[in-house]
Amino acid sequence: MKLIIASNNAHKLVEIKAILGDEFEEILSLREAGIEHETVEDGNTFAENAEKKAREIAALSGCAALADDSGLCVDALGGAPGIYSARYAGVHGDDAANRRKLLEALRDKRERAAHFTCAVSLVYPDGREVGAEGFAFGEIAYGEAGENGFGYDPIFFLPERGCTMAQLEPEEKNAISHRSNALHALLGKLR
Ligand code: IMP
Repeated sequence: MKLIIASNNAHKLVEIKAILGDEFEEILSLREAGIEHETVEDGNTFAENAEKKAREIAALSGCAALADDSGLCVDALGGAPGIYSARYAGVHGDDAANRRKLLEALRDKRERAAHFTCAVSLVYPDGREVGAEGFAFGEIAYGEAGENGFGYDPIFFLPERGCTMAQLEPEEKNAISHRSNALHALLGKLR
């Protein structure tokens, strides 16, 4: 079955393709499928946003569509930035500014627990929908470390690994990440 990933985030696409492997005959990004579309992400939860993105792309393409909505929830900030993770510092997708703002918000805080959440939604052209969520738990570091990954990875410290998410090799991140946990939960429901 052909699957369209309802995203233009190059980092997410690489991770999703690596995690799904050969579960689908063909996995295409929006660009590869020739679709130019931006979903307005106005849901109140990760799951609502993922469902909305997947529904719109399934309707537009006539193919099965998979969407990922994800973000970072920080305990000491009441779960912020949460669904606003991509635009925490004001400009959508300015990862460096988002990390700086978060480090500044936690400057005097000792309570640094945080988790990534990923909601995935798979919508078939006939309207069937399957969704799942995954998490990765850690702490916000005091500074940046690591060159891999994207977004908040350089400041997301994994105590049991003794390093940040950005210091993991891509296959190591894909074995433990919120995205991997969500996609494996989804695959479990499909089987
Ligand atoms: P979305 O495109 O609306 O789902 O926004 C996701 C945002 O959450 C990204 O811009 C990143 O800032 C953050 N994010 C999601 N997943 C990850 C990840 O795996 N590592 C680091 N940051 C992530």
